[in-house]
Parts: sequence; structure tokens; C-alpha cells
Amino acid sequence: MARSPSADRRRLLGLALAGASTLWIPRAAWSVPRLSHDPFGLGVASGSPDADSVVLWTRLLAEPGVSDGLPLVITLGWEVAEDEAFSRIVRRGQTEARAELAHSVHVEVGGLRPDRWYFYRFTLGQAVSPMGRTRTLPAPGAAVARWRLAYASCQRWDQGYFAAYRHMAEEDVDTVLFLGDYIYEYPGTSNPVRPGPGAWAVSLEDYRARYALYKSDPDLQAMHARCPWFLTWDDHEVQNDYAGALAGESGPPGMVDFAARRAGAYQAYYEHQPLRAAVLTRGLAGLGGGSSAAEMRIHGRADFGRLASLYMLDDRQYRDPHVCVGDGGRGSRSIDPAACAALWDPARSMLGASQEAWLGRALSQPSPGWNLIGQQTLFGRLDRRAGPGELLWNDGWDGYPAARARLTDTLRANRVANPVVFGGDVHQNWVGQVKADYRDPASRPVGVEFCGTSVSSRGPSVSQVAERLAENPHFVFADGSHRGYGVADFSPARLSVRLRVLDDATRKDAAVQTLASFTVETGRPLVLRD
Ligand code: FE
Ligand code: CA
Repeated sequence: MARSPSADRRRLLGLALAGASTLWIPRAAWSVPRLSHDPFGLGVASGSPDADSVVLWTRLLAEPGVSDGLPLVITLGWEVAEDEAFSRIVRRGQTEARAELAHSVHVEVGGLRPDRWYFYRFTLGQAVSPMGRTRTLPAPGAAVARWRLAYASCQRWDQGYFAAYRHMAEEDVDTVLFLGDYIYEYPGTSNPVRPGPGAWAVSLEDYRARYALYKSDPDLQAMHARCPWFLTWDDHEVQNDYAGALAGESGPPGMVDFAARRAGAYQAYYEHQPLRAAVLTRGLAGLGGGSSAAEMRIHGRADFGRLASLYMLDDRQYRDPHVCVGDGGRGSRSIDPAACAALWDPARSMLGASQEAWLGRALSQPSPGWNLIGQQTLFGRLDRRAGPGELLWNDGWDGYPAARARLTDTLRANRVANPVVFGGDVHQNWVGQVKADYRDPASRPVGVEFCGTSVSSRGPSVSQVAERLAENPHFVFADGSHRGYGVADFSPARLSVRLRVLDDATRKDAAVQTLASFTVETGRPLVLRD
């Protein structure tokens, strides 16, 4: 008898919760198949750390070409140690990898000490996973001298190699902020750099295969094994330009049930990232079938002692549809704000009412140090028409200006110290001041913005970017001709950011260099180029 979608969903949630907690499974009940291949081909990862816990992730793969190659339930061992030799093990246990969650595991290891590095690995019979390194965050209220994070986004498999991660792994970063487009749902690209994927991702199985393709990349695996990641998603983890429950325009021919497509994409996202099971259970209130039952609450806060707080936002899942797209239109457009009366409708939201309220509460108790907003796209206004008149891209915050003004008003009303917005999506580096009112050139800055370029996805034309920088003086730097990532060093007195770029992202052995570097001092929302 077929179960209802919501009953399936409840069962998944129960399994996810059980998998996250520390289990003691009597040896007699272990399910440890004898495997003739290495099941850890997707590597390991850690993420969502706080001061005393972190999520450890892996996913077991069946032998290539063997269908039903893994039992429904497999018992894995895991260990966390203070040293790489695993001579000082501080936590160990078992967990179960289940077919219902693609044999992924998400172990939430607690009882760790704050602000220190650990090493971890999984075991399955004689098979041992690659070793991962992870760390906890500083204790609440602790003085912290420095923190280094790397920010990255947009890694299209068939448009380049992930050489950016090979270089990032040598930067000694404490955490990665991944800001969206971890996968792309497209079947292919013109002049692909490497083969695959070959078909649209539509079903749960398609998205699982897409993550397995991307995560087969050794440089990406190595960076996941290097330090814990915080992640949010953008549109391509589901479909180009989707908005909340509304599909975008691109996709395979024929009918696609978008609610089902999104639910499968979200489930595969959970299965392949080091997320806490709470991102699923917090969606319980939405149970009842349809797309609302597939909610995943991936936005959240992390505190780095007294040095900084991070607010990771989800501006895809709850946003209102794109504005001024014409009759029956969907998705992104360049729009003329003078001809788009609905643009400033205060009812339009980028984050949704509930996330906006959560962010308002969080920002009423901000960090005394730096306050980092991690989100998926360009935050500042970007007029794309040189000279008189304006042209705005309605997929970014420029399509939701009332919501953007509410966010900057919240920063000001709460006197939030030292706001720093990180973003991605546009495949270009943009650096500048966040303005209280982008329509008023004299409006004072309320924070700073670093929107990063893509890891491998192709960028725009070079001449376009220079022209747009001149038209938008609240930005101090822009570049669209390089792929790469950013490295941000926080201390109580200053923030230093280096834009690290590849000479050629279509080469596996690409070299890296610093394109530009910037300093922001506490108490002054101004970006100074070094
Ligand atoms: Fe992208
Ligand atoms: Ca203009």
C-alpha cells in the first residue's frame, strides 16, 4: 500500500533524527557488509559547528555498475581525536547509513571543547574513510584574536575545474562560507571543460547523482576535509530562477511537478551536506503535503565568541515571485524601475515573513564585534544603464528594494556594529559600501559588502563590468574576468579581505594570485583598497 507523502516525510525525519544522535548499537545488531570496493568515494565533510559540537558527514556509495549494491541499513563507526594519529580519541560511536537517505550520515558530535581543532574518520569493517579535520567555534563571550574564513559560490562542473579549492586548502582557513550554486541542474553547457552530466536534474535520484558527480572532485573533497563549512543555497540547487514555490522557466520539455522537484532537490541537498537534522525537523510545522512540507530551515546564526556573529540567510525558499515579468512571465529580467510600479510594494519579501522576523530578533542581540550576513546574491543596487535612466536585475536584492531597506533599517535601528555582507551568484567580484538608501547618493554607509566571484561558472563580459562600476559609486571595486574565492581575516580592530583568483579555471593545475585586497576598520563602514 502506498503511504501518503507526509507519512513518508515523517519517517524520513525520524530516521534523520536517529542518525544525528550518538547511538550505541549492540555489536550483535551491527550490519557490516563485506565490500570489495571503497565505499567512501565521496569523501567526508564537517559543518554547522558551534562551541561544543559539529556535524560529521559522509555518504556510502555502492560499487559502480552494481545496482542494489548496498544493504538497506549499514552500521558505520566514527571517531573524533585530538591528533592526526588518532592516539587521543575524545569521542567515538556508531551510526546507521540508510538507503532512504542515500546512505548518508550526519553525526552531531557534542561534548567537544571550544575553539579547537579535531580530526575525524569513519570506519566500515576494514574500510576506513579519508581523515577530516574540523573545529569548534570559540566559547560564548570569549575574546578571540583572529578568525579566517573563505567565501565561495557557483561551481559549475562542466565549465571548469575546482582548482580554487586546492589553493583554498593551503590558506589555513578556519571555516568556509559557501553561498550558493553548489550544483547546477542543467544537462550541459556549450564547449564543456569536462564531460557530464548529460541530462536535466529533475527527480530525487537525478539530484543524488548530480551531487555524487560534483563531490567526486578531489579538490572539493579535500577542502571539505580541511575545515567545517557553513552553507546556504541559491537557485541552481533546484532550478534556475525559481522563487519560493514558483518554478523558473528553464527545464526539460514536458510537464514537471515543481513541488515534487523542489522536495527531491531539497532532500538531496540535505543528504549531501553536513547539516544538522534540525534543518528538517524545524519544517515539521509545515507538514501536510505539497511544497510546504518540503521546507528546510537552513538559515541560522553562529557566534564566534565576542569577535563576530554570522547570520546565514536563505533568500530563495521563501521569496516572492519576480516583479514586472509581463503577462505569464516567470524568472529573472532586467527591468526599468520607472516602469515597474510594483517594485517598491512593501508586501514583497526576499526572506519571507518568518525569516525576516527571526533576523530582526537575532539582530536585536548582535555581536559587539563584527556582524556577518551570509547570503546568496549581490546586495547593493547595481544600475546597469550608463547615464540617465536605470536598469535593474530583478532576481537580486534590486528586485526586492523594500525588503532590502527593511534589512538596512534593522541594522541601523539596532545599532548593529560593523555589518559585513557576503554574497555570490553574479560570477563577479563586487566590493563596496552598503547604503541606507541606494537612491540617495549622499546616504551614509551602514556597512560593507563583499560579493564573490564564481569558483568555476563562467562570468560576464569584461567591458560591461567597468562601465557598471563607474555608474554605481557605492562600489569601490568590480571584476568579472576572474574565477576564484575570497579570504577574510577578522580581528577585533580590522577586517582584511583578499580576492584570490585563478589564471584559468578551465585548467586543473590553474595557479592562484591576489587580484586586490581591502581593509575595513571597526567603527568605520568604509572599504579601503590596500
Ligand atoms: Fe551561479
Ligand atoms: Ca543609469
